[in-house]
Amino acid sequence: MLVAQRGVQVLVPAVQNFSRTLPALAASHRWEVLQQRLLQTAAGKGDNALPARTTLIRQGALQTHQLGLNLSEETAAESEELSFDNPSQAFRTKSTWEIARALLVLRLCSFDVLVDNSLKLMKVGQSFLGQRLFETVMRATFYGQFIGGDTEKEIEATVRRLLNSGLQTLPAITIEEDIGDEMVIREEFYDSATQFYLDSIRLLARLSDYVEVPLFQLRVTSFLHANLLVIMSKHMDAGCPELSVENLASGLAEDNQNFSVSVLTDQENDHLRNMLRRLHAVCRECSDRRIWLAADAEYTYMRPAMTQLMLAAMFKFNQKEPLIWNTYQCYLKGAHDNITRDIQLAKELSMCFGVKLVRGAYMDKERALAKEKGYEDPINPTYEATGAMYHRLLDTMLHEISRQGRRCKLMVASHNEDSIKYAVSSLTT
Ligand SMILES: Cc1cc2nc3c(=O)[nH]c(=O)nc-3n(C[C@H](O)[C@H](O)[C@H](O)COP(=O)(O)OP(=O)(O)OC[C@H]3O[C@@H](n4cnc5c(N)ncnc54)[C@H](O)[C@@H]3O)c2cc1C
Repeated sequence: MLVAQRGVQVLVPAVQNFSRTLPALAASHRWEVLQQRLLQTAAGKGDNALPARTTLIRQGALQTHQLGLNLSEETAAESEELSFDNPSQAFRTKSTWEIARALLVLRLCSFDVLVDNSLKLMKVGQSFLGQRLFETVMRATFYGQFIGGDTEKEIEATVRRLLNSGLQTLPAITIEEDIGDEMVIREEFYDSATQFYLDSIRLLARLSDYVEVPLFQLRVTSFLHANLLVIMSKHMDAGCPELSVENLASGLAEDNQNFSVSVLTDQENDHLRNMLRRLHAVCRECSDRRIWLAADAEYTYMRPAMTQLMLAAMFKFNQKEPLIWNTYQCYLKGAHDNITRDIQLAKELSMCFGVKLVRGAYMDKERALAKEKGYEDPINPTYEATGAMYHRLLDTMLHEISRQGRRCKLMVASHNEDSIKYAVSSLTT
């Protein structure tokens, strides 16, 4: 569903509709873990990369979040009771085979043992079935469920099919990276990822006659080694002034040879300069083609630097309108502090502010890591506390929108019916 009204997008993936039909599955968020692993594998990051028929899939598959019902502004304003109860509407774009596959895949994702051992199982499957058969099985099941396409033709067909049914898409290239023991930098990998972004943005721009709100999702870890984000985050915690938003923004340029940060090594500075050039190219492309770019939030240990880089991009590209958006994870205890700090900074730097609001997808790993390393769990203690935080941030952003108008934008990115209803009712009252 997409409600474009007063600067607010309410985005619900079509999987929401399955959740409604299958409450038992909705209770489990484990499908996301499996999805992440599958996508990492598809992007050639895992030990057992999914065999690639095209180079595109190696560089990263394009995941299409399918957004549910498309409500016009008028419909949203008029709809007193928002209902998720109409299966024929919900499954309009799905064939019977796709519904059966979704049932199977989501049911399997509710078994912890399968999710926890998914990488191992994929490896065994690959050696047992052989490359070709393994790929066929994966494409027919998990990969087919979560991926919108991995060639231009397939992606275009998916986008058009959804749009013809009144559904918008939020394409996302699924190249992401977690920290490793060593920082082995493969610049050519990040360069080819950047090229894949540029090609995909151009593809989306070509479909702009159909796409009502051209949106693109970005992962900062597509452009640099995750270890550098951790290093930068530590320097930021220590108060390094050279990692300020304004200073980082000065390095966001095609030619940034003179940019450097004194606390980083030569190798780190080289990599940062390359990253800033890549991010600049992608933001510039979106700016030229008027496509909104929403940066994903990932793990807490990278969060400070990741957010700072996106604020730097906002500083450079959001002077007139909120083209670049950052994501805020409401499962974090510090979520409200994080967003109020950034709202304040955006005001001080006179930049427009775009926000994608999510609950957060990395809970298990965050908690396990906090336990292992002996620091305080950064995640809210209960599901209810996360829900309350979500609505608190929603209220904060709606308040900002009512004060700042179209200089602020909010994307309510949730499957949660209560949150969707809360957001829509806040708009219509
Ligand atoms: C369009 C879109 C974009 C997204 N982008 C991102 C992104 O950039 N980064 C990201 O991290 N996630 C992202 N997500 C995933 C999102 O963070 C959630 O994991 C997912 O949407 C499920 O949360 P929900 O709001 O839909 O509702 P629900 O299914 O009601 O909530 C489940 C969520 O609640 C939280 N939760 C569950 N149990 C507990 C507990 N015991 N204690 C505390 N909290 C708990 C977790 O965050 C869990 O994912 C995105 C989702 C969508 C729809």
